[in-house]
Amino acid sequence: MFQDIGPHRLYNEYTLKRPAKADDVLIVCQKGRVLLKKAGEVNGSPSQGKAPSGQGEDRLPRCGDFPEVLADAEKLQYLIEVDETAFYLWKGSAEEERPDVAENGNAKERLSDAGKESYGAIRFSVERFGFEPLSTLRRLKPQELAYGAVTACHLADWYDKNRYCGRCAQAMNPDEKERAMRCPVCGNIVYPRISPGIIVRVTDGDRILLTKYAGREFTNYALVAGFTEIGETLEETVRREVMEEVGLKVKNIRYYTNQPWGFSQSLLVGFYAELDGDAAITLQQDELSVGVWMTREEMPSRADDISMTARMMENFRLGLD
Ligand SMILES: [Zn+2]
Repeated sequence: MFQDIGPHRLYNEYTLKRPAKADDVLIVCQKGRVLLKKAGEVNGSPSQGKAPSGQGEDRLPRCGDFPEVLADAEKLQYLIEVDETAFYLWKGSAEEERPDVAENGNAKERLSDAGKESYGAIRFSVERFGFEPLSTLRRLKPQELAYGAVTACHLADWYDKNRYCGRCAQAMNPDEKERAMRCPVCGNIVYPRISPGIIVRVTDGDRILLTKYAGREFTNYALVAGFTEIGETLEETVRREVMEEVGLKVKNIRYYTNQPWGFSQSLLVGFYAELDGDAAITLQQDELSVGVWMTREEMPSRADDISMTARMMENFRLGLD
């Protein structure tokens, strides 16, 4: 699964003391998207299309890609580390550098002379860098850095949304000892938010219940899933979500495993359950477009997927559990 990056290791401790290096990853987020360096650069100019693997793929930007970053370390917030590679959040702004501006000496002069307005901004060429949806990181290689990047983006979004105190509106400061934002006026402390959610594989003998989401880009088959509401146990979430999404009752709910899933800022907990009673599906149509019972033989393979949902489906298809 996505988090299985051994022998590599993700370090989430809030203890890094060393300054940023040129090959550390720079996380720049904007409206839920992340800045990536585009694929296929040859002699400094982008080529058409994307090479199938290796050097030709999109990659994470490094601090060394932006000279102004290493010169302005106060704008860097340490996030996590994977092996020896640290991930830093850029707290300044990001400004696109259009080719017609970059190639024109006078215009470039004006940009760099923008003074206070652009203080703390990184400038990136739109030919070489671009903001991409977080889901792009599902396919990014190597996997250990992609997993690090999703985790870093989860944290980056939390920092972005907690710049001001929710109680007294004062600017918050990062705590010096633990991963928290602290209000210097009223003492309010805010910790990173992780939302628990369940994924449940419902079976009925040799059949599995598969669904498809309504109105989403993701069009593969999925399992019933949902976030835990306040005041309920994970098993109660399982029963409620199965009833809401497909109108079925379940029994023999068993824990399978769990998966940190930074794409939805959640910790997903996987359960197996069996149908209890009537198998007729009543679809929750604003959430799902498809809900079907399928045999092992009818199921598509999801062997290449990094998600726990895919693992749970694949285990059933192959008769592994
Ligand atoms: Zn406050």
